[in-house]
Amino acid sequence: MTTANLVATVDLDAIAHNVGVLRARSGAGVIAVVKADGYGHGALPVARAALGAGAEAVGTASIREARELRAAGLDAHLMAWLHRPDADFAGAVADDIDIAVSSPRQLDAVLAAARTVGKRATVTVKVDTGLARSGVAREEWDETARTVAEAVAEGAIDLHGVMCHLAFGDVPDNPANDQQAERLDDAVADLTRLGAAPRVVHMANSPAALTRPDLARDLVRPGIALYGYSPIPSMGDFGLIPAMTLESQVVLIKKAAAGQGVSYNHTWTAGEDTVLGVIPAGYADGVPRQLSGRMQVHIGERLFPSVGRICMDQLVIDLGPDGGGVAEGDRAVLFGPASAARGDRVPTATDWADMLGTIDYEIVARIGSRPERRYVGGADGNERRVGEEADEVG
Ligand SMILES: *Cc1c(COP(=O)(O)O)cnc(C)c1O
Repeated sequence: MTTANLVATVDLDAIAHNVGVLRARSGAGVIAVVKADGYGHGALPVARAALGAGAEAVGTASIREARELRAAGLDAHLMAWLHRPDADFAGAVADDIDIAVSSPRQLDAVLAAARTVGKRATVTVKVDTGLARSGVAREEWDETARTVAEAVAEGAIDLHGVMCHLAFGDVPDNPANDQQAERLDDAVADLTRLGAAPRVVHMANSPAALTRPDLARDLVRPGIALYGYSPIPSMGDFGLIPAMTLESQVVLIKKAAAGQGVSYNHTWTAGEDTVLGVIPAGYADGVPRQLSGRMQVHIGERLFPSVGRICMDQLVIDLGPDGGGVAEGDRAVLFGPASAARGDRVPTATDWADMLGTIDYEIVARIGSRPERRYVGGADGNERRVGEEADEVG
């Protein structure tokens, strides 16, 4: 029995498989990026599955995200890299979170927090090698390197890593990647000369991890590929398996006479007598309203089109004059792999992104908190594999 109208089923075996693909292709260790609640998949179960498959560490954007994982019992190496000036650095030090700093001011704040807590801080230096987003600016590099070296000499910090983030990771042969790598290596050389050599160096996101093993250094930091989406769709799927299936049921079936307008403002009108199905999924769940009349829902072996406006909680599909053989309670897949599905191809999050002119990252990260997350596979033996009992969602 499920109480949520919409269920995001996450296959933890797919996550584990994808970690294996990333390790093999990059030849490096993996920092599993689980920011934004694991790109909508659930940060804690994804982190556990990734670590179980050999990932070496877990990365989040905020300290809050990292501390939530620590509080839930994750004892792996945890790193967070995006902080407000008044971030909870003391909490991060107390919880052994590796704090990636982007300025001398952040480093000073971490040092102050370490003194307050009475504990050595674990620090990674995030260098802006060309993305021009977060990371230590070039004009602040010398001061940052000096302060890091002093703090290391005093025993105030443990310099764990040096990292940067690529601007053109998804364009593997863009020369900017090589320039960023050179600048990162220079930064590591500077710190080493000052007596503060880091333990690990990393820069590669998903696309670079899969296509540029020469950039991997010690570790890679994949996000989207962990969840099974190709970071460079034009280069194929790299053998990755999407982990999420977004599914529900047909909750109501009704007849509509020719001329009947459907949903708000009747933006679609039945051209002939037909049968409508109601799916309890809407934009508050992360189903973009702009997909109104454009997306399709997979039921049984067939696709049925959305008609009229997608609402906050529900959308309507046209089952056709004969009702398509669909019954109330039938499983309805919005996107997936839904591996056991037959017949028409099941839509993917990438299909949705393509229709909207965005990337699948945005589709999965916006699956809200209302849909239930259900986990299958994984070392803990969660339920069964996706799709083995295709009709059982309710
Ligand atoms: C989000 C993020 C990643 C992961 O990027 P993907 O493109 O999803 O692989 C890696 N590193 C940093 C700093 C990030 O912000």
